[in-house]
Formats: sequence, C-alpha cells, structure tokens
Amino acid sequence: MGVSNGISGAARGKIDGVNPKRILVVGAGHVGLYAALRLSKKLSSREAEVVVVDPQPHMTYQPFLPEAAAGNISPRHSVVPLRRELRKCKVVAGTVTRIDHARKTAVVQPIAGPTREIPYDHVVVAPGSVSRTLPIPGLHEHGIGFKTIGEAIYLRNHVLDRLDVAAVTPDADVRRSALTFTFVGGGYAGIEALAEMEDMARDALRYYPELEPADMRWVLVEATQRVLPEVDRDMGAYTVQQLLKRNMDIRLDTRLESCVDGVVKLSDGDSFRSDTIVWTAGVKPSPMLDKTDFPRDERRRVTCLPTLQVVDGDRVVDGAWSAGDCAAVPDLTKEPGNYCSPSAQHAVRQAARMADNIVNVVRGREPVDYKHKHAGSVASLGLHKGVAQVYGVKMKGWPAWFMHRTYHMSRIPSFNRKIRVVVDWSLAFFLKREVVALGQLHDPREEFAEASQPIAVIRKAA
Ligand SMILES: Cc1cc2nc3c(=O)[nH]c(=O)nc-3n(C[C@H](O)[C@H](O)[C@H](O)COP(=O)(O)OP(=O)(O)OC[C@H]3O[C@@H](n4cnc5c(N)ncnc54)[C@H](O)[C@@H]3O)c2cc1C
Repeated sequence: MGVSNGISGAARGKIDGVNPKRILVVGAGHVGLYAALRLSKKLSSREAEVVVVDPQPHMTYQPFLPEAAAGNISPRHSVVPLRRELRKCKVVAGTVTRIDHARKTAVVQPIAGPTREIPYDHVVVAPGSVSRTLPIPGLHEHGIGFKTIGEAIYLRNHVLDRLDVAAVTPDADVRRSALTFTFVGGGYAGIEALAEMEDMARDALRYYPELEPADMRWVLVEATQRVLPEVDRDMGAYTVQQLLKRNMDIRLDTRLESCVDGVVKLSDGDSFRSDTIVWTAGVKPSPMLDKTDFPRDERRRVTCLPTLQVVDGDRVVDGAWSAGDCAAVPDLTKEPGNYCSPSAQHAVRQAARMADNIVNVVRGREPVDYKHKHAGSVASLGLHKGVAQVYGVKMKGWPAWFMHRTYHMSRIPSFNRKIRVVVDWSLAFFLKREVVALGQLHDPREEFAEASQPIAVIRKAA
C-alpha cells in the first residue's frame, strides 16, 4: 500500500519541538467544511494540522439544488470550492474507503494513483448520506436521485430536453411520456425539486408554441398521508393545495411499485409511461461506514454522545467524532430516545460545536453538549411561492419564499458565494431566467468522435 505525499505518519514534522495533532476530516459537506474551517481558524499550526478528504473539489450547498436545477442560480454558485475556503487545511481529492480506528488509520483512494494510509489523532466522520432506495423493479435503470450538483444539472437539461422532444415528435405516446414527470417522496427535497422544476418548465413553455401547460403532467408519489413532515399538518396541507392548484397530480398514501422500461406502476393501480422518474424518498448513512470499526445504531448511523464524540455503549471512543446525516446525535431538546433529524440546520451547528469540542479536548478541557431546538423549515415552491414555519411562525406564499431566500443566502458559506447568488437572483429578475438545455454536457465527445473517425470506418459506413 502506497504511503503518502506529505501526509504520512513519517512526514509529520515537529514544530519547535511540539508534535501537532492530526485531525482527519472525512467528507467536506455541511459538517466537514464548517468543522475544518473552524478548527483551522481556532487551532494554531503548532497545535494541529487539519487534513480534509473528499472526492469532490467542492462542498455542495444542497438546499440550493432545486434553485440551481430551475436556473435561478448558476450551479457553480451553489457549491463552495474547498481549496479556496480551506486555505489553512490540507485538502486531499479522494475517497476514504476504510477506517481502522483501533489503529487510528484511514485508507484513502485518491482520484488518481494508489491508495494510501493516513494516520490521525482525531477523526471527524462526516461522509453524509446517500439516497435510500427500495428494490423496486426498473428503479435502478430509470430513476435518478436529487442529492448532487451533477443530478441537479442533469435533471434541468433532461426536463428541457423532454420539452424539445415533445414539441417535435409526431407520436402522441412519445409526447405524453416526454411530458410526464414523476417525483417519488414528499419531503423538502422532493417537494422543492418538483415545484421548482414545474415552475421552470411552465416558464419555458412560452418559447414552445407547440405545447400547452395542460399537456404536462407532474406527479408526486408519497407513501404517507402527508407531505413536508418537518412542518405542521396544516402547512403540509397548504402545500398540497398549492401544488393541486398548479394542476399537479398528487398521490398521497401511494407507493411506486415498479417502473420497468419507464412504465410507472403505482400501488393505487394506476400505470403510465414517464421519461422522468426522480427518487427523493429519504436518505441512509453513507455505506462507507460499513468499512469502519465505529459503533452503529439499528439505522446504521454512527452512535454519538451529545458532545458529538463517538460512543460505544457507555464508552467514549477516544479521538472519534461524528455529526450530520451519518450520525445518531441525541436531541437534548426532546424526550430521551429522540435524535437530531438529518438536516443542514443541525449539520452546520453540530459542526461548530464539534470543532469547539475538539479544540477543548486538544487543550485539555471538557467538551460541551450540543443542544439546538429545530427552528423549523423553509421551502421554496417556485418563483415567489413558498411555505415556512420558523420558531412556530407560519408563513405562506411570497413572504415564505422571501424568507427561504434570505435564510439560505445567509447560510451558504463565504461572502463570495453570497454575492454571486444575489447577483444571479437579480439578473434572473431583470433578464428572466435561462431556459436552455445544455444536453451536450452529458456527452461532450460525441461530435468530435464522429468528426475524427478513422477514414476506413467512414468508407465502410458509406
Ligand atoms: C435537495 C436537497 C435540499 C435540502 N434542503 C434542505 C433545507 O432546506 N434545509 C435543511 O436543513 N436541510 C436540507 N437538506 C439536507 C441537508 O443538505 C443535509 O442534511 C446536509 O447536507 C447533511 O450534511 P452532511 O455534512 O452530513 O452531509 P453532506 O453535506 O452531504 O456532505 C457529505 C460529504 O462527504 C463526502 N463523502 C461521501 N463519502 C465520502 C468518502 N467515502 N470519503 C470522503 N468523502 C466522502 C461527499 O462528497 C460530501 O461532500 C437538503 C438536502 C437535499 C438533497
């Protein structure tokens, strides 16, 4: 196994006779980025070096994915470049494939080159979550998630591309399938993705004289009896009403049973063709955790104390910390047995508490419990439409949408990103949003490969 380029155990130099602790941050998302930033600000280089590993060169601000997909903000501005923000950290472009905490060592597969081991003193386990899927026939082949910037860009191009297909095809079945968009899962990710994409497509239709808004069919399939479980029932009901007013097909208490060959079959007996099937029905902890020796709960989350230290039964696991979507962190604002929900709201606050606790422990002080009462949720339902419930205050329509924007603008890391996002919104306000598909992005070599075919192949084809 190859060992390192400045981050091996052997290469760790003493600074003025002091051995700095190595803090390894696994994953640079909401938890990892904020924790690394805070650690590198609070600890001097004599105290610690912070090594951050993530296969992506950026943190994705997921709450902005629906707006990025809808073309209200540039996808590039909904991500935060790691190297630019984490100047005092060592950033490694790679995937942690295994952690042997008994040896305080992680195995990293860099995006190029051989795997390497990185020893550490403290580890921040923050690889987040992946889509929680079910073994539904056809889902693997025809579904797409909505968790990454790549998925958001793809979905935008795909939806606009389907409008082009529908506008040009003479075949009524092809047209109907192209104009049927199915979303599975009515949490905030699913609702926002559905509402924003429908809003964008409706906006785009003014450039398609061949199509009418009524030609489109937007379907939400939700297994429970309500949407947006993060807000009160009346706000969930309001959201459903708003979507119904926009002629969306909302199926509560209904499950996707199969989508083989793009034919959606629902548990209520309905069946229809749909070229677009978006799966937003929840998340589960990163499967990478299976390759670690950390204690886990029945939902496969890393078990934590309120201090964000990993705990095995009642034994604190020395030097191991976790938070965010992959961690079971007790919610001290509720009855015992409750855990913090997987949300950006908790993730960024846990990151700050965790970083301060690591600083405390490095300096020989006691860690402090994380305690935050979930403030509520804000969700955008398209341009100028929204729903919000924050600290018990309920808002609908434009005020909720405005709150959604101001809240997330205030939360996205870095002044640079805030400015870019506000400029994007302002441009879209005055110049109307961009509704062009850049489908070539998904196969950029196609034209060149065609043009550069060897002469023998061209002659044979002729
Ligand atoms: C569309 C959408 C909208 C959302 N909207 C809201 C909202 O409005 N409000 C809210 O509170 N929450 C929202 N959330 C949820 C919120 O984004 C997540 O709860 C939050 O991102 C969790 O933070 P995290 O750090 O645990 O994981 P993430 O932010 O997902 O970060 C995990 C990081 O780990 C990296 N990684 C994964 N595996 C490895 C590995 N093996 N090695 C190294 N790195 C790895 C990933 O590349 C990623 O950068 C939304 C989520 C989605 C998908």
